Amino acid sequence: MEKQELEENIQQLSALINEMPDFVCFKDGEGRWLKTNQFSVELFELEHIPYVGKTDAELATYSPFFKDAFLYCEQSDKRAWESGVVSRCEEQIPQVDGTSKTFDVIRVPLFYPDGHRKGLIVIGRDVTDRKIAEEHIKHLAYHDELTGLPNRRYLYEVLDRELLQSSPVAILFMDLDRFKIVNDSLGHLIGDQLLQMVAERLVNGIAKGTAFHHSGDEFIVVIPETNRKECEQIARQIIDHYSTPFNLDSNDIFISPSIGICISENVENRISVQEMIKFADLAMYEAKREGKNTFRFYTKVITSQAQATLQMETHLHRALERNEFVLHYQPQIDLHSGKVCGLEALIRWNHPELGFVSPGEFIPLAEETGLIVPIGKWVLYTACKQVKEWQDKGLPPLRVAVNLSARQFYQTDLVEMVCKVLKETKLAPGYLELEITESITMDVGRSIKILTDLKRLGIEISIDDFGTGYSSLAYLKKFPVDKLKIDQSFVRDCLKNSSDATIVQTIISMAKNLNLRVIAEGVETKEHLPFLQQHLCHEAQGYLFCKPVSIDELEHKFAKVETILAKCGVPEAINQQLWLEEALRMARQDLHDTIRMQQGMTFKFKENNGAFIHTLGDGELLYRMGLSPGKMVGKELFDFLPPEEAQKKLMYYKQAWAGHCVNYEGKLNGVYYFAALRPIIRAGCVVEVIASCVDITERKQMEEELEQSEMRWRQIVKIAARRYPRTAERKNPLL
Ligand code: C2E
Ligand code: CA
Ligand code: CA
Repeated sequence: MEKQELEENIQQLSALINEMPDFVCFKDGEGRWLKTNQFSVELFELEHIPYVGKTDAELATYSPFFKDAFLYCEQSDKRAWESGVVSRCEEQIPQVDGTSKTFDVIRVPLFYPDGHRKGLIVIGRDVTDRKIAEEHIKHLAYHDELTGLPNRRYLYEVLDRELLQSSPVAILFMDLDRFKIVNDSLGHLIGDQLLQMVAERLVNGIAKGTAFHHSGDEFIVVIPETNRKECEQIARQIIDHYSTPFNLDSNDIFISPSIGICISENVENRISVQEMIKFADLAMYEAKREGKNTFRFYTKVITSQAQATLQMETHLHRALERNEFVLHYQPQIDLHSGKVCGLEALIRWNHPELGFVSPGEFIPLAEETGLIVPIGKWVLYTACKQVKEWQDKGLPPLRVAVNLSARQFYQTDLVEMVCKVLKETKLAPGYLELEITESITMDVGRSIKILTDLKRLGIEISIDDFGTGYSSLAYLKKFPVDKLKIDQSFVRDCLKNSSDATIVQTIISMAKNLNLRVIAEGVETKEHLPFLQQHLCHEAQGYLFCKPVSIDELEHKFAKVETILAKCGVPEAINQQLWLEEALRMARQDLHDTIRMQQGMTFKFKENNGAFIHTLGDGELLYRMGLSPGKMVGKELFDFLPPEEAQKKLMYYKQAWAGHCVNYEGKLNGVYYFAALRPIIRAGCVVEVIASCVDITERKQMEEELEQSEMRWRQIVKIAARRYPRTAERKNPLL
């Protein structure tokens, strides 16, 4: 009777539940299916299965595909009855395409008053889309969108609890060296791509641990159950992994990491992940201070150094307002004349408590914090002003070189700022030189544009610390720069170390070939001078001549500085001789280049034992005819022309050697040319014949075309004449 009642109720409900987008199933007290809805029939593919009166276990034998789902369901039913209350859980239902759907399933157990099981209502709602969206949101919240790596929140929230229990655990804090320059120079899009590649390499490069993206160019690797030796190995592996460049936008970008490591056993107990990260970060700064591309373990000493840096940063912020900066100047000497030809402005920080702070210490900090922009502006303004005052005193006019850091180079209003400073200080632009570093040459297009704009102001540009960076020589010739400064490290050891000597020599000759001036920095001893003079380095700068001094001090030292080259360098006469030879070499080179660049070609020959031997041959036309100076010079006609052609030319050569001016036309490898031979006569004798040739191919082709059309015309007229003899004769004067 009660069962019937239940069935009636179920029938009344069936119309309603068939419309529901959830699966609904009524079961009896034994777990047998009594009634279900259309959604459920379709979901479990029950159309052809007599499911009424079957338990889940029985249905599992009918339908192997849903077997696991049915068996799981049976277990959940059991638990629902046992608990005696409404229960809720998530269940996976497989799909034919191999995926599965997640259902939020509610079970309502029904009992007789005596406590026996009466039945069970199971209702399941498809929550797959919501689950996916939730997962996605969770993933986004815990992963970095750019690199796909788990993010800082993941690290802090999840691992803070778990990781520090498994001890000892290590945190490797990795920061990319010079990443800001890449970002500033190549743009954020490339910077982002680079970060993605860096992340990928990091994941592939660690044998153990999990990589996290911390922020910007900072990454963290967490290594569980580890020790100092293993951390060291992993850090080395990571550094090794970045030794090959990344290729992006056809630029080879070298990125090196600096790594700080903190191991939990080396710090006090019950320390949070955040604190460990802070310590690893401090150790990373230490790695950077010690030359980058390396790793350091955290120690207590590091904390005090970091505090000092922080303190210095605070002081640096106030230094400009408090007028604590001064400029010192170091003269640059012309190695031809021995005279001072320029000054380099070098900043000095005179702090009331810290005392004298070297630029090597605070410039990197200023670059990092961005303070270099206002400081750099102050340097530029002060240097221009002081040099203008120097000139106004009637002292020898000198050019001043101001250092420009990469950060300043890419500041958007650099050109306007320089222009404004020149205007305000009234220094002629020709007396200002900006020293840039090789690193800015990374973004070729952008830096060429900035350099061109700067050059347009009329100032000079030099590349500082040349040889230590990675500028490609192919690019170098495209950069509108005037001067290379050979890095002091090469100059210092050029007398002791043969590879440094070769580097110095090579930079000098390369600079000359590119028509650039070249200066050697860090010239400390008089032994350096003959080496640089022999290789005709244009300028030198270093303690040998003068340390950087204030402008007033320089005025007093000036005369003495200008005596150093004469005292310590090679004897005056030899120096002059060397430069004279160089001037001659340059003039020859210039002539050579002129001949090569001209549109036609020039050649010369002389008679030697009855043969005409070519002594010169160059010019663009020569190459177009399939020849080259090497094929022609030292050779006679028969060596490079077909015999018939050579024989013809020999006749002209003989006439010219006899003292006549000869002109002729020729053709070689499809190129028509006109040649004019002119004998050079000394003391009544022909000593040489010089010839110049021009390309007449175009004219010849036109002549040929004209000739051919004329021939065609004649033929037409001939045919016409045959057909209409009189009219044709009369009308055509050609016949
Ligand atoms: P730098 O541009 O390569 O400057 C040359 C450095 O070498 C100077 O160090 C100079 O005093 C030193 N020096 C000159 N002759 C000799 C020598 O014969 N032997 C040795 N051992 N050293 C010599 P300083 O003044 O300490 O400057 C260090 C660096 O700080 C500079 O290297 C430059 O990169 C940076 N810097 C200095 N002033 C400025 C500035 O106004 N702006 C920017 N952005 N950077 C600056
Ligand atoms: Ca410099
Ligand atoms: Ca330098």
